[in-house]
Amino acid sequence: MIHPKVPAEPSELTHFIGGKHIPGTSGSYGEVYDPNSGEVRARVPLADRAETEAAIAVAVEAQREWGEWNPQRRARVLLRFLQLVEREREALARLLSSEHGKTIADAHGDIQRGLEVVEFAAGIPHLLKGEFTDNAGTGIDVHSLRAPLGVVAGITPFNFPAMIPLWQAAPALACGNAFILKPSERAPSVPLRLAELFLEAGLPAGVLNVVNGARESVDALLEDTRVAALGFVGSTPVAAHVYATAAAHGKRAQCFGGAKNHLIVMPDADLDQAVDALIGAGYGSAGERCMAVSVAVPVGEATADALVARLKERIGTLRIGRSDDPEADFGPLVGRDAVDRVRAYIDLGVAEGAELVVDGRDFVLPGHENGFFAGASLFDRVTPGMRIHREEIFGPVLSVVRAADYEEALRLPSEHTFGNGVAIFTRDGDTARDFTRRVNTGMVGVNVPIPVPVAYHTFGGWKRSGFGDLNQHGPDSIRFYTRTKTVTSRWPAGLREGASFTIPTMG
Ligand code: NAD
Repeated sequence: MIHPKVPAEPSELTHFIGGKHIPGTSGSYGEVYDPNSGEVRARVPLADRAETEAAIAVAVEAQREWGEWNPQRRARVLLRFLQLVEREREALARLLSSEHGKTIADAHGDIQRGLEVVEFAAGIPHLLKGEFTDNAGTGIDVHSLRAPLGVVAGITPFNFPAMIPLWQAAPALACGNAFILKPSERAPSVPLRLAELFLEAGLPAGVLNVVNGARESVDALLEDTRVAALGFVGSTPVAAHVYATAAAHGKRAQCFGGAKNHLIVMPDADLDQAVDALIGAGYGSAGERCMAVSVAVPVGEATADALVARLKERIGTLRIGRSDDPEADFGPLVGRDAVDRVRAYIDLGVAEGAELVVDGRDFVLPGHENGFFAGASLFDRVTPGMRIHREEIFGPVLSVVRAADYEEALRLPSEHTFGNGVAIFTRDGDTARDFTRRVNTGMVGVNVPIPVPVAYHTFGGWKRSGFGDLNQHGPDSIRFYTRTKTVTSRWPAGLREGASFTIPTMG
């Protein structure tokens, strides 16, 4: 196997503004790691307020023309973009994997789920059709149209460097907005490459800009009156902060946060299927997914004993390897801080009295002693009040919370502060139907462990997992990135009637 060489000197990344690579001028940089080796592979500039404001000015200018393009012409840019990404899908997947640490196969999935939203947004001529009422009153017609907002911004997390930027950019651009992407400073290279490909696909320069940075650039985006709306995806404390600050500045915002996703295993479930689901959804991408399953809830002691025994056996066969090892089930975490956090949560779980059935704390991949690896861990007999159940760990740690019966199992995700995804494994249609109707969670899987909806439905969690009214992708995304203008018109015959001094009614 050929390992990508880590350059002796870290490369220096740029911003991408007005169709050009622009070096950072703030003097402040973040470090981008190779998580396999723990070495720094690049430095990413962190934009200050002035650099961010300069990008906003470019976007304002570019949007004037872009917003006037007809929707079909805008869709053609998206269609060409799809072809370009297809052309270099493998290279993009490798780049993504080398910065993030997810396996190359999983990186392909990251790109694919992003492209599906581009495909959805390419239907923009149809999606943007407004409403029309003929003859709402004598000689009066009413129509509603969806106008672009202007300049909108997206702030994205490290864990889906292709998918989430595309979830935001594709509908935002299709609706006629200019878009400023502030990607995670931990994995900025794929977002930069995607912006280059949009330019190559015919997107006018300045319509999509990438401003690398951290808090200072986000604050500038939040406070600048020229930015009409923000999409945020990341941890809950920052999501809540961005949502409140956007509202205080009169901006539209949709902010998606952390998660604690439960998978209920009913006594009648196909146990092999449930174990497969838990292993894949619990440990895939080293647990660094907002839709990862981090809590298994077997119903009844017999189900729990059988489940824990099988999980333990399967975890023993997991292969943890370099992100470019085609045999690896999962690779390293994104950073040293992530490894430390995961270990600290395992220490905490032990101190809280949970039973640590599999301990991944001391895992080391030979030859990669400085890599950001964590082994798979499994806790049994976790109780709802423990912090390891209440808080998001975001690593390869699965907790088993035993429930005595169905009602107790239903309460666990329903009463949890997070409400992103949930799943139930059962063969009984009535139980599944009752569960899907009553559970207090935004996305539900029935015998499907990670119920990420397809692109033409919408994605969004409830409670502390999502702040705002409208979800990502699907019809909600078109509503989010446009505003409705409603026109009531009457033509000359009506004017001849002269002035009216009472409020108009349609009688
Ligand atoms: P994060 O909150 O640390 O960072 C997200 C983004 O916010 C980054 O672009 C970062 O630069 C920026 N940021 C960080 N601190 C900030 C601050 N104080 N002010 C302004 N901006 C700030 O999240 P992360 O570690 O990159 O991503 C992991 C988190 O994202 C997990 O909690 C995961 O569950 C969540 N996530 C949620 C979804 C969802 O759809 N609900 C999807 C993916 C990830």
